[in-house]
Amino acid sequence: MRILITGGAGFLGSHLCENLLNRGHEVICLDNFFTGSKDNIRHLQNNDHFELVRHDIIHHIDIECDQIYNLACPASPVHYQFNPVRTIQANVLGVTHMLELAKRTGARILQASTSEVYGNPSVHPQREDYWGNVNPIGPRSCYDEGKRVAETLMMDYHRKHKVDIRIVRIFNTYGPRMAINDGRVVSNFIVQALRGKKITVYGDGKQTRSFCYMDDLVDGLIRMMQADHLTGPVNLGNPNEFTILELAEKVIKLIGPRSEIIYDPLPQDDPVQRRPDIALAKLRLEWQPKVELEEGLKGTIAYFSERIKDT
Ligand code: NAD
Ligand code: UDP
Repeated sequence: MRILITGGAGFLGSHLCENLLNRGHEVICLDNFFTGSKDNIRHLQNNDHFELVRHDIIHHIDIECDQIYNLACPASPVHYQFNPVRTIQANVLGVTHMLELAKRTGARILQASTSEVYGNPSVHPQREDYWGNVNPIGPRSCYDEGKRVAETLMMDYHRKHKVDIRIVRIFNTYGPRMAINDGRVVSNFIVQALRGKKITVYGDGKQTRSFCYMDDLVDGLIRMMQADHLTGPVNLGNPNEFTILELAEKVIKLIGPRSEIIYDPLPQDDPVQRRPDIALAKLRLEWQPKVELEEGLKGTIAYFSERIKDT
């Protein structure tokens, strides 16, 4: 198959490109390189089945393809708030362009949605039928509301134009190829500890997240794309929940007990708790994460140790 991956030079996108090439598909990686990097895909560029297109999905594009994975959107709060108007445009204009492409080509399209559609959830753990608790006018809204509109567009193209859609809601995923300056918690803590800097815990560190290793997540994305008669949304994430302080302690234990924690202010609207209910993914995709946090952290630490040596 000819598979288009938007955001293909990013953290998750580059692993997805690699996985699909290994399965014998042709992969077109499309990216505007806002948060993605050529380093993430350099090793794929000699593969005859790999093509790279520099493009921003907020503009129209026409490409022949059989499947589309739409991952193009900055994912870290630091980066999606850098130019919030561009973030919401990627989710409204960009997703519309990808859906128009799917409509014309007949390609199946998967949208990388997010646990952020649940906002600061009042239901715990989060199931797909929970509608969420999102601030429409806060600093996170460009991303949260953008991704919610993207889901709406997906459903409307499906109902109105019979576009073959798949929606996954991804919960905090980490691993090798996150950018050193990504700003999300796992990479921040690891890079800080490796550099002997203080570990920045925001707030009191009692807020929770559930961390999924990238290999598990990519497997879930592909299963969802291949599933029959399932538009979603389907949650994909690791249901083991940790406080941010517990995460900091694990990183310190693995890298070196010399690291100190400092407490910085909690960003506005930072969700207090988050954990996916993955019963639907288990039932319909026969999917559940295999990699425990400590094992995934070791792989990620090994990656950043090498990267930091080079910088
Ligand atoms: P990332 O920032 O590493 O990857 C995003 C990629 O999209 C980058 O390569 C970036 O350059 C590209 N991009 C951004 N805007 C674009 C545009 N307008 N046109 C073309 N390319 C554009 O982040 P990631 O963690 O790999 O996230 C990938 C997708 O998964 C995103 O859509 C994100 O919202 C979603 N997601 C990720 C997580 C997670 O924990 N990693 C959680 C929920 C949702
Ligand atoms: N966080 C932190 N220190 C950091 C980065 C993040 O304590 O250096 C916290 C952040 O406030 C949030 C959690 O870690 O409570 C996860 O943040 P991240 O940006 O990774 O993802 P989010 O789930 O908030 O989108």
